[in-house]
Amino acid sequence: MVMVMMKEMTLHTAEHFEFVDITEHLRKLVHQDGVQEGICVVYVPHTTAAVTINENADPSVKDDILSKFIELVPWKENYTHVEGNSAAHVLSTIVGVSETIPIHNGELMLGRWQGIYFCEFDGPRTRQVVITLLEGGKQH
Ligand code: ZN
Repeated sequence: MVMVMMKEMTLHTAEHFEFVDITEHLRKLVHQDGVQEGICVVYVPHTTAAVTINENADPSVKDDILSKFIELVPWKENYTHVEGNSAAHVLSTIVGVSETIPIHNGELMLGRWQGIYFCEFDGPRTRQVVITLLEGGKQH
């Protein structure tokens, strides 16, 4: 049997472009629910934001990723979208709006240097993150 638990978190971003580390919040959710073996799906229901997993030991890594994004997808180009935030839509699609992390022995199976980042590409805004925890039945 598979148990499904769904949670929502609200976050307020402060910058136009920003990576917000949500790793600890997600770890706490897994611990609270006591999920031992399963899957954590992190989903961002927005068109100008995303979620990614990368190094959170050295904060300069996320800064480098963000500055490369800004260089690769300029804010001002010959876009047709009248809202004027096409770059944010492009980055949301490139990075993607969900990540799946296995849970083993009650812990997210993140690598030693990995953290989970909410990626803001058109802030500051109030954002939602949907977290679905799937727990597998106990082995007999
Ligand atoms: Zn738009």
